[in-house]
Amino acid sequence: MKSLGSIRRSFAPWTDPDAKPYISFRNVTKRFGDFTAVDNLNLDIYHREFFALLGASGCGKSTLLRMLAGFEQPTEGEIILDGQNMAGTPPYRRPVNMMFQSYALFPHMSVEKNIAFGLRQDGMPKPEIEERVKQMLKLVKLEQFAGRKPSQLSGGQRQRVALARSLAKRPKVLLLDEPLGALDKKLREETQFELMDLQQELGLTFVVVTHDQEEAMTMADRIAVMSAGHVIQVATPAEIYEEPKSRFVAEFIGDVNVFNGTCKGVVDGKCEIAGDDGLTIRIQSADVPPTGTKAGFAIRPEKMRISAGPPADSTVNAISGEIWDIGYLGDMTVFYVKLESGKVVKTSQLNAARTVDDPFGYEQQVWVSFAEDAGVILKD
Ligand code: ATP
Repeated sequence: MKSLGSIRRSFAPWTDPDAKPYISFRNVTKRFGDFTAVDNLNLDIYHREFFALLGASGCGKSTLLRMLAGFEQPTEGEIILDGQNMAGTPPYRRPVNMMFQSYALFPHMSVEKNIAFGLRQDGMPKPEIEERVKQMLKLVKLEQFAGRKPSQLSGGQRQRVALARSLAKRPKVLLLDEPLGALDKKLREETQFELMDLQQELGLTFVVVTHDQEEAMTMADRIAVMSAGHVIQVATPAEIYEEPKSRFVAEFIGDVNVFNGTCKGVVDGKCEIAGDDGLTIRIQSADVPPTGTKAGFAIRPEKMRISAGPPADSTVNAISGEIWDIGYLGDMTVFYVKLESGKVVKTSQLNAARTVDDPFGYEQQVWVSFAEDAGVILKD
């Protein structure tokens, strides 16, 4: 049997120029009075994609989701879903269902009745409702809780009831607004994988709003990083992390060290940046900024080595400094190294061996080094 990982890796319709998007936002703007919450935004989402909208509070993620669901109308632009322009289509006529952060379960109704609610409203015949509810309870593994009220359930179980209720009407697209917000860390992690399995099993398109980058990285096929009503970058989690297209994305996702400097052009086949911190950085890159322009270089802490002496290979980028701070996190140790310029660089090292001694101590002189392909050039 193929693992979920390999199924997900082979799913990439956005790389196929002939693939038609399932959901398209075309030049969509949403204004509330004179405030622009979504600004001339274009975005394509594909059938069966697990898509995440990621951004800080107030960047317009929920507004985008609410426009797709039909609870808000775009001020300008259009939203196309499965080939249909959604303008004028009320929420209940859209092949979309939304699961809210608060779950909005009916407290006086049992789990079973909560799940059946939408189907009853639609006038589905009773035996079919019973069958569908049974399927849904099985899907979210809550068969033995059918008769309980929401208050008699744990946070995770309530989340699963809300999910079952949203899926009961078999929407083609499920919109999830901070679906795991109410769960504690461990349960969140478990539930992330449950959601991914469910989405695969049902072959649905999921659009999830989150401000939690780890959650988006774990679950999504692609992530749209949003800021102030704009989409800054849309890419797979690995591309977003390894190849951020801008300083904003590099700094927003994960930890990063950014060196500022001036591009010296191509020297011996490598792009050289004269860093403001006294380090000349050689980078393997096909995308070299014009000579003499300001450029940045972003490198993740885990891509940097720390050693007592300079690296033997003189082609490796390296700079010396002093251990400024140490953070022992169990699985890894984070070393903050202060360079002569005063800049503090963050490096991390996996604790693969079981030892209580750190290899480096406070105020020790060390070298920080990294390979020519370990980071990315930032042009903005
Ligand atoms: P959060 O993570 O906090 O939910 P978000 O990215 O989902 O944030 P939105 O809810 O989409 O943000 O809101 C985007 C901006 O639009 C915010 O500044 C918000 O105050 C504003 N906004 C949203 N709805 C309305 C409304 N009905 N009237 C006026 N302003 C609104």
